[in-house]
Amino acid sequence: MHGLMQNRPLLVSSLLTHAQRFHARREIVSLLVDGRTHRSSWGEIGARAQRLANAMAALGVVDSTRVGTLAWNTHRHLELYFAVPGMGAVLHTVNPRLHLDQIAYIIDHAGDEVLCFDLSFSDLVQALAPRCPKVKTWVALCDESQTPQIPGVAVRAYESLLDAAAPHFDWPVLDEQQASSLCYTSGTTGNPKGVLYSHRSTVLHCFAACAADGLGMAARDSVLLVVPLFHVNAWGVPFAGAMCGAKLVLPGPNLSGEAIYRLMRDERCNFSLGVPTVWLGLFDHIERHRESLDLSQIRLERVVIGGSAAPRALIEKFDALFGAFAIHAWGMTETGPLGTIGRLLAQHEGLSGAARHDVQCKAGRAIYGVDIEIFGPDGKPLPHDGVAFGELRARGPWVAAGYFGLDASAVDADGWFTTGDVATVDADGYIQITDRAKDVIKSGGEWISSIELENIAVGHPAVQEAAVIGVAHRRWQERPLLLVHLKPGARIDREALLAWFEGKVASWCRPDDVVIVDSLPHTATGKLQKRTLREQYQGYRLPTDPD
Ligand code: AMP
Repeated sequence: MHGLMQNRPLLVSSLLTHAQRFHARREIVSLLVDGRTHRSSWGEIGARAQRLANAMAALGVVDSTRVGTLAWNTHRHLELYFAVPGMGAVLHTVNPRLHLDQIAYIIDHAGDEVLCFDLSFSDLVQALAPRCPKVKTWVALCDESQTPQIPGVAVRAYESLLDAAAPHFDWPVLDEQQASSLCYTSGTTGNPKGVLYSHRSTVLHCFAACAADGLGMAARDSVLLVVPLFHVNAWGVPFAGAMCGAKLVLPGPNLSGEAIYRLMRDERCNFSLGVPTVWLGLFDHIERHRESLDLSQIRLERVVIGGSAAPRALIEKFDALFGAFAIHAWGMTETGPLGTIGRLLAQHEGLSGAARHDVQCKAGRAIYGVDIEIFGPDGKPLPHDGVAFGELRARGPWVAAGYFGLDASAVDADGWFTTGDVATVDADGYIQITDRAKDVIKSGGEWISSIELENIAVGHPAVQEAAVIGVAHRRWQERPLLLVHLKPGARIDREALLAWFEGKVASWCRPDDVVIVDSLPHTATGKLQKRTLREQYQGYRLPTDPD
């Protein structure tokens, strides 16, 4: 017997329509590429998205056409976020920080027919155009007077397309399983792979972002969206923002500590999200200008740290400087990305200081919608005791089942997607990511977590950033080598850094050597590029290696 409830599909357009009707005046603030601040609202975004859908239809965009973007966080990119999926097409957000060859590959592989770009990417577009023959129309996200002249490329101005379009568009009633957006994984090995989200997965993911034990997003929030719109749907926040009617503050291209601080203060942001690197930049700015900054003007209540392991020092600083609760979250492109979220349980009530930070350092617990489990080498589930670690797998309605354009399934017979991360799960269900499977250091049959060592190193006041890689060792197979980038003006030697690990980790896990470097390489999504470091330090002779 079927239930007798309405079978209304879960569609991206319904999020926008809701925001437009019930949160019309709630602000959307964006810093544009030309440095101006633009103020609009959910009402305006909704109205302009309808015009945009008509404009896209006039360019030949139909059901399932891929529309690419090379763009920062601005109101125009947000309009594309809703208009393109809303009309039944697929929004493909391209990460402009990738290598040119990868960008060209991704645009071609996705089959993008329209490509919308910010003016700062005009040179990139000039290089891409001859390599992307499937793109029929290049749209600059600007008004007519700013349209760039790119030799050999006919560029249309976004605002002129909107001006010429009819104002009203009826969002079609689509199948909720229809594709809505496409993001390629950073692809540390092989070619990048496309994760194709559906309307249904996107809307369900929003419920997790808005749930109290999720990110707890709500209408009263003023959200500083530091996570780029080209990283995994900006962690779903644009969609969740529409669902709850939050104010969104979009920082454009400037993600410096100073710019973030200013926006946070001026727009009275109480919630923000970003990768650790961005927050390290924020605290670096604060430390360097502590005398002239009035931190009481910052209203931050909670902040999400994700994308890489959150160093304890960051969690402590958010607490100490702003009284803000750091929500440590784990996820990946293939999980929407929200997978586990670090909120407290009843038994943590009243915990403060170090005891609470201990809980926050874990990468969160499963949220309803993403089932997780860890498996040993024999394929059997491991105990949830916080000690046993194994391959982390996930399954749920917003976890990938396959990749765009690839026939093979991405899940096993039981529906699990293998994440490539190694983790522990404790008795309360909190996970701790030990490593990416390929980054874990295998020393004499034991595994050493590079993430744990990096977090300890970053806790040292002289250290800006740290990476730990496994280096071949004749006796132990592999041993940890610590690479550190020091804060400006800081000085510390190898012995002092090695001594810092004493008592913080088992002695056999401590790094065997330290190299101080001028900078560390990052992937296009801000993660440490361990593969490059491993290549660079291949053959490095550790002082502990027997002759
Ligand atoms: P991406 O698909 O580019 O978002 O990368 C996802 C990967 O980032 C995951 O598989 C993890 O290896 C890493 N990651 C994300 N969040 C965390 C976290 N909280 N702690 C440790 N690693 C993380």
